[in-house]
Amino acid sequence: MSAGTGEDAVLFRGVSKSYGRLLALDAIDLRIPRGESVAILGPNGAGKTTALSLLLGLRRASAGAISVLGGDPRARSVRARIGAMLQSSGLPEYLRVDEALELFRSYYPAPLPIDELLSLAGLDDIAGSRIARLSGGQVQRLYFALALCGDPELLVLDEPTVGLDVEARRSLLATIAAIAERGRTVLMSTHYLEEADAIADRIVVIDRGRIIADGSPRDVKAGVARKRMSFRTRSPLDDARFARDGERYDALTESPESLLRDLFARGIEIDDLTVTGATLEEAFVALTSGEHRHVA
Ligand code: ATP
Repeated sequence: MSAGTGEDAVLFRGVSKSYGRLLALDAIDLRIPRGESVAILGPNGAGKTTALSLLLGLRRASAGAISVLGGDPRARSVRARIGAMLQSSGLPEYLRVDEALELFRSYYPAPLPIDELLSLAGLDDIAGSRIARLSGGQVQRLYFALALCGDPELLVLDEPTVGLDVEARRSLLATIAAIAERGRTVLMSTHYLEEADAIADRIVVIDRGRIIADGSPRDVKAGVARKRMSFRTRSPLDDARFARDGERYDALTESPESLLRDLFARGIEIDDLTVTGATLEEAFVALTSGEHRHVA
């Protein structure tokens, strides 16, 4: 084991991945200590799935070095300690839920008991159902249970809540949070920023193959240093900086104070003023539209 990797669940050093002429990941450096729960955010095609498949040893990096749980992600001994839920898994449809779980459990030296898996993933009622008969959300929960079979030290989830209804999503997120609480490392990609905010200690934002922000949800928001300012006025206000909805005006700004000074200087009377921190959604849009800055 090389120095410094023992405490790391994931270590990427200068990792690039090309598909032909397309550079999907561009010299990524990423260190995830054990026990951390990390959300990877990015727009479609940013490189999230590519990064996850490299750290799972499913693809080879074009350049750079990757270490997972202190070893090579392609080594069987390392893979046995990782649980993964990917977007494009495939399962034999003739198997029953409990049979699929038994099959996956048999791959691991110290699997979780089947009852615990069924209950963690909310599958108790359909343990005897054939996969062919499951709804999309039930299949998703089965994939999640399969990822947990080996009681993994590192749990990797690629957009795990896709296709789930509100209640199923909430319960899956609560389970993921509980697994992170047990000291497991969780790495999850998501398009849902409120999910990242709710479960991750840290958010890594990827865009066009590069990490453009890396920090706590709070840091990522603060890194954008934007405020949402909202007020009502009866005075006519023809100003491109504001979005208008009837008498209500809205702006995203780095300096609400100077906007306010400007309005007062123009004699504009305002009511019902609120100034709030930008939401993670707004931070994300700003970050991925070219206003890049590192916050960690
Ligand atoms: P999404 O949110 O849509 O899942 P992503 O962030 O996971 O996107 P990737 O799937 O990693 O993005 O794709 C990154 C880039 O690499 C995209 O431009 C994609 O078209 C390209 N790409 C991914 N896999 C391949 C492949 N096997 N062959 C060629 N290009 C690929």
